[in-house]
Amino acid sequence: MQPEDALREVAQAVSVCTRCALHFSRKRSVPGDGPADAQVLLIGEGPGFHENEQGRPFVGQAGKFLDELLALAGLKRAEVFITNVVKCRPPGNRDPLPEELSACSVILDQQLEILHPRVIVTLGRFSMARFLPNARISEIHGQPRWVEGRMIVPMYHPAAALHQPKLRPDLEADFSRLPEYLHAQPGQQKVTVPPKKGTEAETQLSLF
Ligand code: SF4
Repeated sequence: MQPEDALREVAQAVSVCTRCALHFSRKRSVPGDGPADAQVLLIGEGPGFHENEQGRPFVGQAGKFLDELLALAGLKRAEVFITNVVKCRPPGNRDPLPEELSACSVILDQQLEILHPRVIVTLGRFSMARFLPNARISEIHGQPRWVEGRMIVPMYHPAAALHQPKLRPDLEADFSRLPEYLHAQPGQQKVTVPPKKGTEAETQLSLF
């Protein structure tokens, strides 16, 4: 099966999925958007009000901001695949529950198998926890990690930066560095990461 067809099949399965209680509150499921040959996969948290109405990820203010962030990385939305850790809207935009995250992880696994992205950008702590369960986003945002042969770059969620403007410079800087990670190889042990505030020199981060 062609990857495009496989993604369509996943989207069709999501639209009728009843694996967790979120199917009761969804208007439209939001499986994700983007080309099957995307090199970058962005994973957010879950659909919000507008996404639930339109069936597309990252529409509204956070979506506009994400487009600006992608431009900093020299990327257009049409070049990347965007999805969420849960594909149906949690009522009232509450956090997804552990059982909902667990139920929906099967669908994300299927998308990962089809897409084989070079870089996975996690947006927010729920998405980061899927790959780096014990990490703190404030400590490792923008720092790439190899996890099971995949490069993971944890970043703040764009909506978080809209609500807390002090996060915005970090998020913009992290996106600006994305192009260099696209060329890293799985065997590569070191990637130069920018200095943290208060330090003088750039440091070398070991990837694992
Ligand atoms: Fe199915 Fe995921 Fe929607 Fe739950 S959130 S009903 S697991 S598609």
